[in-house]
Amino acid sequence: MIYWDHAASTPPYDEVIQTMAEVMKKHYGNPSSIHRMGEDAAKLIKRAREVCAGALNVKPAEIILTSGATEGNNMAIKGTAMQYGGRGKHIISTQIEHPSVYDSCLDLEKQGYEITFLPVDAKGMIDPADVASAVRKDTILVSVMHVNNETGAIQPLADIGRVLKNANPLTVFHIDGVQGFGKLPVDLEEWQADLYTLSAHKIRGPKGTGVLYKREGLTLHPLLSGGKQESGLRAGTENIPGFVAMSKAMRMAAEQTEAFMKEVGAYRDSLLDWIRKTPSLEPNSFEEGAPHIVNVSFPGMKAEVLLHTLEEHGMLVSTKSACSSKTTEPSRVLLAMGRSEDAASSAIRISMGMTNTHQDVKQLLTALDAAVSRLQPLRQEGMK
Ligand code: PMP
Repeated sequence: MIYWDHAASTPPYDEVIQTMAEVMKKHYGNPSSIHRMGEDAAKLIKRAREVCAGALNVKPAEIILTSGATEGNNMAIKGTAMQYGGRGKHIISTQIEHPSVYDSCLDLEKQGYEITFLPVDAKGMIDPADVASAVRKDTILVSVMHVNNETGAIQPLADIGRVLKNANPLTVFHIDGVQGFGKLPVDLEEWQADLYTLSAHKIRGPKGTGVLYKREGLTLHPLLSGGKQESGLRAGTENIPGFVAMSKAMRMAAEQTEAFMKEVGAYRDSLLDWIRKTPSLEPNSFEEGAPHIVNVSFPGMKAEVLLHTLEEHGMLVSTKSACSSKTTEPSRVLLAMGRSEDAASSAIRISMGMTNTHQDVKQLLTALDAAVSRLQPLRQEGMK
């Protein structure tokens, strides 16, 4: 079997697995305990925080260690709304956000906040001019993702940050960086980001860990009440093995970004070439997108059928994103790009990593050729 679902989760580095085991075995003290083992554990967290901060080029005090990006996104959006709701109740996000952002906004809508979900063009891109015209005096938050998890579309964050801060310097700018970190250059200063979410299991770190960057000086209302961990922003005993292992994965991902773009970007180009030469397919990803995600529709065929046919050929791909694959509705992201219901229901996502090889890509193309030829007659049957 060859794994093509790296946007859903990634194989942890050996070093990550070893670190988790080692820390669990030796450093099981509670960092809030004031004896030696507690202090040891607290030191490990301090060091992990420094390494995470280094990978993002920010200060350690700006790092909040979380259970992953779902928590980070909820904390960023609801925490901002709860903190700054007195100043205004308008929030801007987009039609293509991950459910952890999109549904957080919908939750707030039910509580009286007004949400503007910006549209995207046929390539899945936000127009910064739309941000500029949507921002108002009472806009407390703008939340835009770096890279879309279904299509790989990269958003123009520097332009969005600039028009936003020109229009209303008090508006908090949150970026869901999950699919961009380690895959593309990240510059939180240039983007003028106030909040930035990461998840470790997308960069070969452990599941159940993540980072929320919070610019110094910005205040968030905590979602969890209890202890004073994470400067009072996230009560609960820390996941020390996870955080130490995550910090290693973040360091390695940051160091390997250029290599990732080159190696994995070449795989993407081969796939996009093949899609262009196959008339029955419609691409939903483009050369200017992220190096690791290729989304393609096979109109007239349910995505699940194509997925399982590829699985019979030893290729593991996904439909939509892992978080929404259990729903039967067509992809919200592809519909927002103006795709038909048919195209949006027949899309598969192939997402790649550095553990894949050129040989894997060759095998994938052979399997795709075979699957498309085999399903072609059924598809025509269905389209009659
Ligand atoms: N945002 C994006 C863009 C994602 O791809 C994901 C993972 N599917 C998340 C947020 C949620 O991350 P986690 O699995 O760490 O909760």
